[in-house]
Amino acid sequence: AEAELIRVQRFESLAMLAGGLSHDLRNLLQPLLLAGDSLLDYQDDPRLARLGALVRDCGRRGIEMVQSMLSFARGARRAEQVRARALVDALALLLQGSVPRSVHLDIEVADAELAFEGNHTELQQCLLNLCLNAIQAMPQGGVLRVVTSRVHLDGGFFEDGEEALPGDFARLSVTDTGQGMSEEVRKRLFEPFFTTKEGGTGLGLLSCRRIVASHGGVMRLDSILGEGSCFDIYIPLTRPVVDASERGEVDAGLHGN
Ligand code: ADP
Repeated sequence: AEAELIRVQRFESLAMLAGGLSHDLRNLLQPLLLAGDSLLDYQDDPRLARLGALVRDCGRRGIEMVQSMLSFARGARRAEQVRARALVDALALLLQGSVPRSVHLDIEVADAELAFEGNHTELQQCLLNLCLNAIQAMPQGGVLRVVTSRVHLDGGFFEDGEEALPGDFARLSVTDTGQGMSEEVRKRLFEPFFTTKEGGTGLGLLSCRRIVASHGGVMRLDSILGEGSCFDIYIPLTRPVVDASERGEVDAGLHGN
């Protein structure tokens, strides 16, 4: 199970890297292609024309590679009915063997019927990331608690100023009694490659946030240094899921060309 977890995490990190890279590469390649095309205009200088053709062909091949990287990064994402119960059941299975004896795993499904539109695999990956972080934050042992419930928010603002839309939400919470986070760590948490762990990727939480955002949801953190941390994911029950191809970060700029 440990090996499988590492494999899934590696894949997820790779997909994120591929997504980010393809986007940047595409922006680089586009002007290169244009430059190649302009060089082709110099037909009376065969050397320039040859160079133009070379630049253009390489540019095109590059764009094709970028396209396939992008579809890899997107994966076969599709919207489906996600059942909270199935989500935590799958999570419990994945965690088997990764929870040390000293950590007590406590799972609660407050609303057995809770379901919403989204992507099961992505959310499972997200919860798994949070749980593994939680376990790593409790080297001395403690309690890892996963709770899913249905909540109603009247709107307004979270403490950090993020807007909460009124409506019904599925709340997925992962709480640990671990080391908690300093102000400094809390600020930098979602930065790509920010990690305090030897061998950490610093991509886990960023990836979680992207997954939650693609569900139209928000992620909240409460953490007290020395006492523990709690990540709450709020996913709207009503709002339709944003399709992967419309997710801005991965492929902004792809449309309309
Ligand atoms: P990684 O786990 O590879 O370091 P993440 O993006 O998942 O990358 O986490 C970034 C950092 O946030 C971690 O290195 C750690 O310092 C901090 N962190 C994340 N989750 C927790 C947690 N539950 N308790 C304490 N610190 C945490």
